[in-house]
Amino acid sequence: MTHLAPNSPHARDVASVLHPYTHARRHLETGPTIFSEGSGIYIHDDTGRAYMEGASALWCASLGFASERLAKVAYETMRRMGYYHIFRGASNEPAIDLCEKLLAIAPVPMSKVLLQCSGSEANDSALKLVWYHWNAQGRPEKRKIISRKASYHGSTVATICLTGIPDFHKGFGMPFEGFLYADCPHYYRDHEEGETEEQFSQRMADALEEMILREGPDTIGAFWADPIQGGGAGALPPPARYFEKIQAVLRKYDILMVADEVICGFGRTGNMWGSQTCGVVPDIVTCAKALSAAMQPISAVLMNERIFQSVMTQSDRLGSFVHGFTYAGHPVAAAVALETLRIYEEMDLVAHVKALEPIFLRAFGALKDHPLVGDVAGHGLMGGVELVQDKAKRRPFPEGQKIGAKVDAHARERGLILRTTADRVALSPPLIITEEEIVEMAARLRGALDDTFAEIAA
Ligand code: PMP
Repeated sequence: MTHLAPNSPHARDVASVLHPYTHARRHLETGPTIFSEGSGIYIHDDTGRAYMEGASALWCASLGFASERLAKVAYETMRRMGYYHIFRGASNEPAIDLCEKLLAIAPVPMSKVLLQCSGSEANDSALKLVWYHWNAQGRPEKRKIISRKASYHGSTVATICLTGIPDFHKGFGMPFEGFLYADCPHYYRDHEEGETEEQFSQRMADALEEMILREGPDTIGAFWADPIQGGGAGALPPPARYFEKIQAVLRKYDILMVADEVICGFGRTGNMWGSQTCGVVPDIVTCAKALSAAMQPISAVLMNERIFQSVMTQSDRLGSFVHGFTYAGHPVAAAVALETLRIYEEMDLVAHVKALEPIFLRAFGALKDHPLVGDVAGHGLMGGVELVQDKAKRRPFPEGQKIGAKVDAHARERGLILRTTADRVALSPPLIITEEEIVEMAARLRGALDDTFAEIAA
């Protein structure tokens, strides 16, 4: 410490702010990049530099940055009431309208909606609902949860256990017992010579069944998955018939299916829900992020009638549904989410994303000719670019090479913010992106790949 100008926002940042998913010691040296405003798919730092957002910030800024219309709704709602809770039967109209709307657009018939503030809270609450349900059914031993390796489902105590990324567990002495991780269905990287996608999916389903039998089917409560695997896996679409085969196993052993739609929900994959794109039939859906275009912290859990029946049973036994957060059903957040859903309707969101899908897949798919790129795959406006050292053998770079981070750094220099994992570039731009912007974004990514190739060759 430190070359940061005394009393600058940068110096004050390192003196006071602990940043999520940031190297705490290195940050003292490097300081923050401070973002100050945005418009469309561009976010501006405090030097005035504009970056294209290739990942909608944290997969969430679906309508880009800054919105008069949503600001007005928040302002009006704050002026009228600002806040009241929904505990003990209290309610407010924005929360009612929002829950009604979510039930109307749900991917499968759903019975009730539980509102929360974040994706983690939604998954955390959904997990409690799974346990509540099996307890209500007189089957309290059905507590173990199976999620998948490389999945990300949140950062709370419970949802980091759902998350299948060992690096996020180690420092905290997690995960707790009872969380199991099925294989990540990474067909491109892991399929055997001559194995079709369907055969690979069958192999995944067989391995899941083996895991269930090994653990005891009566001890497994739910299977947790995001339709297109986001955070840890880097926007990885499932191979053909994957969820059909997985869910056949789940049904056989009476295991609940929870779809984490925190990234995939609201048009991202070319349907309203990733479940529709990938053939998931969930008992519980969690969603957040694009629900409010990320302009307010709000999330939701949608549950089917079977789960709601259990909630009623437990209320009979315990006197009420004993779960809730102060800001659940926050009227300002709910009003902004509702207005966001209206905007989606007006822009005919699903048709809009479907129309852009071929342009997106063509523009980024063209990168397959690049020496660093093994594969490009996606749905809607969500896709991943697989970085490989050896294309013929589909072999990734050694982890120490930090290839994803290199591409990320070069993209920044070219005015593009990306989301990269160790060996994948995840693309998930704001849904308002234009055709020209898609082409420009792909060109910037190609430039960053060229720069990375030159750097490792040197
Ligand atoms: N589930 C998925 C699939 C996510 O991508 C995320 C966040 N990236 C979460 C859950 C957690 O959401 P939040 O950060 O709002 O708690």
